[in-house]
Amino acid sequence: MKVVLIGVGQAGGKITQALAEFDHRMGFGAVRGALAVNSAKTDLQSLSIDTALVGQDRVKGHGVGGDNELGAAVMQSDATEVMDALDGRITAEAEAIFIVAGLGGGTGSGGAPVLARELSRVYDVPVYGLGVLPGRGEGAMYQANAGRSLKTLVREANATLLIDNDAWHSSGESMGEAFDSINDAIAQRVGLLFASGEAVEGVGESVVDSSEVINTLRSGGVAALGYASAVASDDSSENLNTIMSTTRRALLTGTSLPNAVAADSALLVIAGRPDVISRKGVERSRKWVEEETGSLQVRGGDFPLDSDRLASLILLGGVERSNRLQEFMERAKEAQEQQPEERSDPAEQFRNDKLQDLF
Ligand code: GDP
Repeated sequence: MKVVLIGVGQAGGKITQALAEFDHRMGFGAVRGALAVNSAKTDLQSLSIDTALVGQDRVKGHGVGGDNELGAAVMQSDATEVMDALDGRITAEAEAIFIVAGLGGGTGSGGAPVLARELSRVYDVPVYGLGVLPGRGEGAMYQANAGRSLKTLVREANATLLIDNDAWHSSGESMGEAFDSINDAIAQRVGLLFASGEAVEGVGESVVDSSEVINTLRSGGVAALGYASAVASDDSSENLNTIMSTTRRALLTGTSLPNAVAADSALLVIAGRPDVISRKGVERSRKWVEEETGSLQVRGGDFPLDSDRLASLILLGGVERSNRLQEFMERAKEAQEQQPEERSDPAEQFRNDKLQDLF
């Protein structure tokens, strides 16, 4: 699937860059353009992809802190400039646009839903969100911001693929140390999803097509991605169990939204050398995914890849009823209730009609 990526905010920019680099390193050619947008100048300076600074008149390149309403406002006032920066990048060949953002901060949290609305107005291709949810250990402000941002992004984007920062996080690392490895995992897994359908070798009936990704996301709402891999045998019949077990792991322990299993639709992609992929393994795995997700719309296909491993990649569409998401929205609601009331304007407290202002 040929995509154009727009990273908003610090996490959005870093993940967009990691995705563009992975795609380039692997020679897939699925990422056709990448732009990072931020209100904080220093966050853009560390990136090597193209950048656009927003909100200069209001925040002077210093960012919006954790204020996602300000993040939305600066994106809205500079939307024309961002759309101009994208012009020419979103060509006729782009099949989808992805807006990438950490939903718990300020610029990405507020800016991503605004951009989704603006882009949907102008372009015919689907506009998807790739949103990062804060981990459980992150503070109340992050949870509350992410809840409001997610609610709005789901409304404005054609679908939103969610990555929970607790999902692809190896134990023993602090959140800060973990960001780079989470970003690498996102780049590899989401990068494979983008590249499936771009395969040139071994084109045949069983090869996955980008329209299948788009159809899986068609129901809208929230999507999740599962991944697991294992060393492949040179004998395809020996890989029947390997494919079954990587598929089980991908869905049960490897999803970007832990415990998101029930889904409206799914796409199972088996990546690896075509000659070692067990057809029986693929068929059985697909049936199993149907039973587990409760979806009658399970698509499937191969992604021919010259590797000594086999990987199962599962895209789930319409997972918003999953316990994990309900639990997150509850966490976000509680966090919002804990937020201090907005400070009232001190001048209001001195309102006294009997006294006249000095000037
Ligand atoms: P913004 O620049 O104001 O949009 O804020 P950030 O991008 O720093 O967003 C903050 C949220 O994104 C936090 O809740 C973090 O969970 C998450 N985050 C920040 N940096 C990274 C990163 O490099 N990788 C990942 N996976 N998450 C990040």
